[in-house]
Amino acid sequence: MSFKSLGLSESLLHAVNKKGYSTPSPIQEKAIPLILQGKDILASAQTGTGKTAGFALPMLQLLAEGRQQSRPVVRALILTPTRELAAQVHEDVHTYSEFLHLRSAVIFGGVNANPQIRALRNGVDILVATPGRLLDLYNQKAVSLAKVEILVLDEADRMLDMGFLRDIKKILALVPEKRQNLLFSATFSREIKQLANGILNHPVLVEA
Ligand code: AMP
Repeated sequence: MSFKSLGLSESLLHAVNKKGYSTPSPIQEKAIPLILQGKDILASAQTGTGKTAGFALPMLQLLAEGRQQSRPVVRALILTPTRELAAQVHEDVHTYSEFLHLRSAVIFGGVNANPQIRALRNGVDILVATPGRLLDLYNQKAVSLAKVEILVLDEADRMLDMGFLRDIKKILALVPEKRQNLLFSATFSREIKQLANGILNHPVLVEA
C-alpha cells in the first residue's frame, strides 16, 4: 500500500515524501480514503500510530479542493486537550500544507493571547485549539466559526477527563450543523460513546 494509492494529491505526496514516510500506517490506510469520501469517523487510536497524519492529510486535501475565499476563514477546526498536543498537531499540519495555499494557526491557554489574536485577524483556513482558549477568543470576537466544514476532536477521552465536556458542547453550538466530524479517542467509555452519538453522523468505525 502506498500513500498515492490512498488518493492523496501530488502536493501532499510531496510533503509526505519530504517527511520521509514511505508507507502509510494502518490507521492512515483505513482513515484517509474514508475521510476523502466525506465520511464521519470514530477512530480508536493511541498516540504513536500516525493518527495526526491520518486526519490531517485528507483534511488538507478536502480544503485545498474546496472553495477558497480571498481572505481565509476557519474551515477546519481541530480541538485538542492540551497545549502540547495542540502545538504538535499544528506543527504537523503546517508541515503537510507546505505545498498548498492554506493557512493555519494554533491557540491555547496559559500564554499571552495577543499574538494568537493577530494570527486569527490575518485569516486562517485551519485552526488548532484547546477548548477554553477558543471560547475565550470567540467571546472576544477574534474568530468566527460560522464556516467550519470539518471538525476534529483529537484525544477526545482526555478532553473529557480534563473536564472539557461543557466547553465542547458550547463550541458545537457555534459551528454549522452540516459538517464532517472526525473523533479520535484511545478509549471508549460510555461518556465517549455518548459524546460521539451526539456529534457524529453515520460514523464509520476505524481501529488502528
Ligand atoms: P502520531 O501518532 O500522529 O502522534 O504520530 C507518531 C509519529 O509517527 C510522528 O512522529 C509522525 O511524524 C510519525 N509518522 C506518522 N505517519 C508515519 C508514516 N506513515 N511513516 C513513518 N512515520 C510516521
